[in-house]
Amino acid sequence: MTTPVPTPQRDRSTTALKFVYDFAEGGRELVDLLGGKGAGLAEMGRLGLPVPPGFTITTEACRHYLRVGTAPAELAAEIDVHLAVLERTAGRGLGQPDDPLLVSVRSGARFSMPGMMETVLDIGLNDQSVQGLAAQVGNERFALDSYRRLIQMFGRTVLGIDNDRFASLLAAATKRPDAELPVGELRELVAAFKQVIRAATGREFPQDPREQLDMAIRAVFDSWHTERAALYRRREGISDDLGTAVNVMAMVFGNKGAESGTGVAFTRDPGSGQRGLYGDYLPDAQGEDVVSGSRNAFPISELERLDPVSYRQLLHNAGILERHYRDLCDIEFTIERGKLWMLQTRVGKRTPAAAFRIACQLVDEGVIDLDEALSRVSGHDLTQLMFPQFSVDSDAARLTTGINASPGAAVGAVVFDSATAVRRAESGEAVILVRHETTPDDLAGIVAAVGVLTTHGGKTAHAAVVARGMGKPCVCGAEELVIDEDGPRLIAGATVIEEGGQISIDGTSGAVFEGRIPLQQPPIVDYFNGVLDPDGPDTSDLIRAVHRLLQHADERRRLGVLANADTPEDAARARRYGAQGIGLCRTEHMFLGERRALVERLVLADTVPERTAALAALLPLQRGDFIGVFEAMDGLPVTIRLLDPPLHEFLSDDAEVTARISAAKAAGLAPDDRDVKLLAALDRLHEVNPMMGLRGVRLGFVVPGLFALQTRAVAEAAIEARRRGHVVRPEIMVPLVATVTEFEITRRELAAVIAQVAKESGADLAIRIGTMIELPRAALTAGSIGASADFFSFGTNDLTQTTWGLSRDDVEGAFFPAYFKARVFDASPFETIDRAGVGRLIRIAVDEGTRANPLLTVGVCGEHGGDPDSIHFFDEVGLDYVSCSPFRVPVARLEAGRSAVQRAGIVRANETR
Ligand code: ADP
Ligand code: MG
Ligand code: MG
Repeated sequence: MTTPVPTPQRDRSTTALKFVYDFAEGGRELVDLLGGKGAGLAEMGRLGLPVPPGFTITTEACRHYLRVGTAPAELAAEIDVHLAVLERTAGRGLGQPDDPLLVSVRSGARFSMPGMMETVLDIGLNDQSVQGLAAQVGNERFALDSYRRLIQMFGRTVLGIDNDRFASLLAAATKRPDAELPVGELRELVAAFKQVIRAATGREFPQDPREQLDMAIRAVFDSWHTERAALYRRREGISDDLGTAVNVMAMVFGNKGAESGTGVAFTRDPGSGQRGLYGDYLPDAQGEDVVSGSRNAFPISELERLDPVSYRQLLHNAGILERHYRDLCDIEFTIERGKLWMLQTRVGKRTPAAAFRIACQLVDEGVIDLDEALSRVSGHDLTQLMFPQFSVDSDAARLTTGINASPGAAVGAVVFDSATAVRRAESGEAVILVRHETTPDDLAGIVAAVGVLTTHGGKTAHAAVVARGMGKPCVCGAEELVIDEDGPRLIAGATVIEEGGQISIDGTSGAVFEGRIPLQQPPIVDYFNGVLDPDGPDTSDLIRAVHRLLQHADERRRLGVLANADTPEDAARARRYGAQGIGLCRTEHMFLGERRALVERLVLADTVPERTAALAALLPLQRGDFIGVFEAMDGLPVTIRLLDPPLHEFLSDDAEVTARISAAKAAGLAPDDRDVKLLAALDRLHEVNPMMGLRGVRLGFVVPGLFALQTRAVAEAAIEARRRGHVVRPEIMVPLVATVTEFEITRRELAAVIAQVAKESGADLAIRIGTMIELPRAALTAGSIGASADFFSFGTNDLTQTTWGLSRDDVEGAFFPAYFKARVFDASPFETIDRAGVGRLIRIAVDEGTRANPLLTVGVCGEHGGDPDSIHFFDEVGLDYVSCSPFRVPVARLEAGRSAVQRAGIVRANETR
């Protein structure tokens, strides 16, 4: 939904649409059409790296197929042409009986969707060509193994047969899933696999290579719409309309014996960001063996020992790719009898810590500048770094240490399958999904779980890749743990954990603990709190990198970053985190706790003296609160919002008062006079829909003296704080204004109080008075409101509720899940600003407000002020600042910097055009 669909490409030589590109014709600029994999293969070819020959069928062809139900008419002929070229290059025909060309048919969408869609290997093998292959290679075992792989993959992905039907036969034939089945048994397995296909589909496994190819291509198109692929796209905000490209590529073989093998590598460690090639290698195997985690691979350093020549070549190629893409790349490769082939590359996914470290390394290496480094990290990354970690000294209950596949700490109940994970998570339980290894079908369970633990597989296994992408803690390859399927239960030596038992996993170290381990703040929070010197000799690279990029963001950003803070403590924290003031100081907490009684007095006051007395009792308390906040924000603006919530929130509980009255009556006593009055007030103030009732500016019209009291408290506190030597910059904000008249009446009342306090104290006192814009009517009449306000602050929570007609507290559980599933929206409009609707109101209000009053300041103080995506929007529409919770201030600083850099890029691009 967020990603535009590319326009169809026309071949320059003809007017026909072009649906197939040879690898040699492609390149990364065609990524929309060729998908990430196809573009990467073409780009590697351009760089002179060894890529098996092949061609790519475009995403446009897929979109046509998905739209119409059949492939475009021209596609078959185009495939003929490109297949002929491929056969000529390879010097043999697809499935040629005596010496077959085999191909893989690989999905590859615009945005990487690891393992979510289908790939079929070894297309072209049949009963005859398998003999030809055996004779050519002089290895019948290898040929038969390839054939049984094809039948299995084809059966599963093209014909939709449950993989278990093959897997159980394979498991029965061999105890170990590696390459040691004798020829005779392999032959029997092939026959048995073919029988499975016959039984399931009523027809033979197709022997015609071209039919195999066409069916596989269609299956890849169809795999765009599998449930797991759809779920993944929804999670990642990838449009359902893009479709996938299909890559047809000559097979190379990593399963031809000990000098062959296959692997996955990253040009740096995607977990920590450490420099140097990082990855897994598996001798005598095909690609899917590594990725599935079904056999445990060696660390890539082992390849240096096994085949130093290929290793050096791989290292060399990794260097070429990193310099070319100027970023961390991940690579899939295969070695066929000592010859290295590059099968895939893309800019690699990485952990948040690695993102920060690698960005700064690349700056130091002169590959990118700091502006670009900023674009390589995100507020989401930074948020994750700020999550709590396990306390270090809790080693007692450690069960084992596996591979630290995706960082972060997770505590939850053990579940052993995806369905249980989803079910228990829906009832609000934190669960950890524990599997031998995960497959793409476990996606729903991974999404539902707070963490993932597998007993097999490494950092490049499916579970690890997916978990890292989602920022979920994951420990892989915890080999000492045994999953007893019959329990089900998890066995760790003498410890047995049943389903539902609590464990803690540390994806940063790989440690697995029994029970619930307490969490603590990560060191980055110490840095934000100013107790860890970013330039100190022992400071980690990570903190140095975060510090460096945040400083750069501060230099670049135009948007101010303020905080929402109500207490002196919050204000002080916000300031340490880099806030440039308070954009929202709520006053409601100043009426809670013991002060409730005073509010009740105010509400119940029948006479002027009673009311005056109640207000007089509140005044010193409020004043004291404000002095503390002003002191903490010395020199910076503090925006105080007048009381906003409905009054009944401050009164005693309706049921309690009623109960007291009935108890008194039952005992034959007269009920307390105060209780009677209170109940009457509660009745009077009761509202069917308090969100739209007596609150905000409206309170000022109904409770005389309330806003005057608050204003006096602000003014007197300002004078007192100033007397104590502080520079004070107070501002007062009127909530829930709908019309300029409300605002002007209120403003006059406040201005009179301020003037009065100034006169009493003999000081001059400037307090800016502005309004929240949180009702559509206010936004639409912002021209007139702006003319008499000093500032606007968009209250995007209420503005979203009122624009959508949604009550936040009610809808999020009620129907948002259904809306996400149907992709009405991918992100809650309460988390990420709805640009088209709420955003349009904001644009109107900014334009008309600032046109009416060029001195008007405009900011935002809703939750959206700390949301990365929304911050870019606020920068774009020209707000002066965002205000968010103190914890999100660093994120907002970073994103504001990123937005400025990106926008500068756009401006530069436009200028040169
Ligand atoms: P995914 O997108 O799930 O990674 P791929 O299309 O990359 O799927 O295929 C999975 C694996 O199959 C790859 O990692 C690669 O090792 C192997 N593979 C794909 N095509 C070929 C080929 N032509 N020759 C050898 N191995 C291949
Ligand atoms: Mg791949
Ligand atoms: Mg509000």
